[in-house]
Amino acid sequence: MSEIDYGNPDVIVIGAGNAASCSALSARQAGAVNVIMLEVSPEEISGGNGRFTGGGFRFPFGGIDDLVKLMPDLTDEELSRFEFGTYSEDDYFDDMGRTTNYRTDPDLCEILVKQSYPTMLWLRQNGVRFEPTFANSFNIDGKVKFWGGLACVMWGGGPGLMEMEHKACRNAGIKMFYETRARELLIDANGNICGVKVTHKGRTYEIRSKAVILACGGFSSNAEMRSRYLGPGWDLAKVRGSRFNNGDGLRMAMDIGAMSHGHFSGCHACPWDLNATPFGDYKVGDQFQKHSYPLGIMVNARGERFLDEGSDIRIYTYAKFGGIIMQQPGMFAWQIFDAKAIPLLRSEYRIKQITKVTANTLEELVKKLEGVDANACLREIHEFNAAVQVDVPFDPVVRDGRGTVGLKIPKSNWAHRIDTPPFEAYATTCGVTFTFGGLKISTSSEVEDVAGKPIPGLYAAGEVVGGLFYHNYPAGAGLMGGSVFGRIAGQSAAAHAAGRS
Ligand SMILES: Cc1cc2nc3c(=O)[nH]c(=O)nc-3n(C[C@H](O)[C@H](O)[C@H](O)COP(=O)(O)OP(=O)(O)OC[C@H]3O[C@@H](n4cnc5c(N)ncnc54)[C@H](O)[C@@H]3O)c2cc1C
Repeated sequence: MSEIDYGNPDVIVIGAGNAASCSALSARQAGAVNVIMLEVSPEEISGGNGRFTGGGFRFPFGGIDDLVKLMPDLTDEELSRFEFGTYSEDDYFDDMGRTTNYRTDPDLCEILVKQSYPTMLWLRQNGVRFEPTFANSFNIDGKVKFWGGLACVMWGGGPGLMEMEHKACRNAGIKMFYETRARELLIDANGNICGVKVTHKGRTYEIRSKAVILACGGFSSNAEMRSRYLGPGWDLAKVRGSRFNNGDGLRMAMDIGAMSHGHFSGCHACPWDLNATPFGDYKVGDQFQKHSYPLGIMVNARGERFLDEGSDIRIYTYAKFGGIIMQQPGMFAWQIFDAKAIPLLRSEYRIKQITKVTANTLEELVKKLEGVDANACLREIHEFNAAVQVDVPFDPVVRDGRGTVGLKIPKSNWAHRIDTPPFEAYATTCGVTFTFGGLKISTSSEVEDVAGKPIPGLYAAGEVVGGLFYHNYPAGAGLMGGSVFGRIAGQSAAAHAAGRS
């Protein structure tokens, strides 16, 4: 077998997902002459978790003028029908604070919020295209109303994102080496990072460079690390995305004295089809998710509701509800809807690979819910129906306050009686998306050591970074964070390689 020539890179980027692509492109544009990316997966399934995403990016915008700069293809006719509203920097700060119980690292959060719109413009300038987030919209009186501050998604979703970013990297002369697993960081006698030890097809190589950027994800795919950090039971959870995010970046950096940071016992996990594949399926993408639960109820094996399905807009609850399903007996929950809600269900409820039952009576339905105490479940549905405030108008676009009265576990918004046949129910379990704990970085994306000093030549971006998310997460902030800090990491690494840092 012939040897691989990795060249003499100035900057090595580990990974080929969203954060890695932004890091590499930015390093190249900031003057690093030779930038390479090392990716453990084969080329045809590269792109990490990024490939599995819906491609939603969260950033502040003042109105349509900001959005037209990102989506210049929108026609006048569309602009007259689409109502995006606004999403201010203050809204973003509030969402980050509220979802993380105000634990988000204030310095990193400020950069995320303030740099996200400029970073979106930068992505657009580099050939990345966006479209409106139709999955977060409702048609009302001839208008398409978007909600939740998530205005744009990537053209072509996750696969489109990775295709466009990889194309931009290739056009910039960045070489990508696949099936190359980074194993160890190389340090010189002065404590500077000077390269990476990798394996490719069983052979070990030492690649020298002036700077290294870790953009190789968290530990979501690693059952051993999940149970070690997230806790018992998490080893049994399904993985929504890549099988390749095994915590290598964390391990390599912590082995040389990097500081850990953030919520190591926390992760993003959502309701996911009970019979989904153990890792993400490239053909199904994110469609195993089941995110219309605010329109119905969820019951566990005891036939009981166990959370407030309508406590907030879906994009502020889905990332923590997977963990709550994980804690239920048997690690599953059935989502139940009636004919009033069924037309409003998201597209992921119409795929072929789905665990679903239907019935024309509630008595018939509860008997079909495998693993559930049918009598208890029927009682629960009747109790729920009796508690719904039917006089409050239903509005799917805002927190409508149409809740329940007197239940031990309330439903705060969008409560419909489950009373109109046909009925549908969907079996879900916990799907882990990505992990929250990671490395401590400076505001320049430098990886810090346990004394709080930057490790010279080492940078990080994306899931491998800790401190942004705790407990929960506002949808679209993962890709945005990877792009913002990837862009900064590239600039810092290029400056370091040129001796300017
Ligand atoms: C189903 C799903 C849907 C999602 N939807 C959204 C969404 O719409 N919006 C949003 O903001 N976020 C979403 N996310 C989260 C989002 O995917 C992540 O926040 C983001 O992709 C993280 O980017 P990253 O570059 O850090 O990691 P990744 O994209 O996972 O990239 C890490 C890369 O590093 C590689 N790698 C790992 N170890 C090594 C090694 N030792 N050597 C070489 N390479 C290595 C991996 O193979 C991978 O390619 C979703 C995630 C999933 C799974």
